[in-house]
Amino acid sequence: MEKDPSAAPDFSLLPFWTNPIFYPKFLLGNIGIRKGRSMDKDEITGRCLCGQVSYQVTGKPLHATICHCANCRRASGAQSVAWLTFSAENFSFSEPPSQYRSETEAIWSFCGRCGTTLAYQHNRRPGEIDLTVGSLDDPEAFPPTQQVSVDEKLSWT
Ligand SMILES: [Zn+2]
Ligand SMILES: [Zn+2]
Repeated sequence: MEKDPSAAPDFSLLPFWTNPIFYPKFLLGNIGIRKGRSMDKDEITGRCLCGQVSYQVTGKPLHATICHCANCRRASGAQSVAWLTFSAENFSFSEPPSQYRSETEAIWSFCGRCGTTLAYQHNRRPGEIDLTVGSLDDPEAFPPTQQVSVDEKLSWT
């Protein structure tokens, strides 16, 4: 049978954690989606490894933090993660990312194609979004000023 190109994609072929239907709408509720590029020169931009998901944010970062917790370590596959925190209302993805809700009720946004960890949100900090500094187009722009979860820090870092 010929496949109808206008038909909805068959998400049943994907693992459940990449399936957008699996996630209630509220998970994406406070993340804007914006198609196309803007010309705002104060804009901070970033993207995943494969380029499928990009993002943009304006305004000053609220925090620049290195986190040594075990969840950041696993989610990134790196020894620690540098995060840049912004007001979520100034932030938008180019398209909806894949999301995973961890046991700690955190929402991790990542590219469903290449797996790059892009953002972290938690309802303990409503209205904020943390972006991985490693996914920024200019990761030198905002050096971390604090380290957290240092009790979980690996001994060799
Ligand atoms: Zn990607
Ligand atoms: Zn962490």
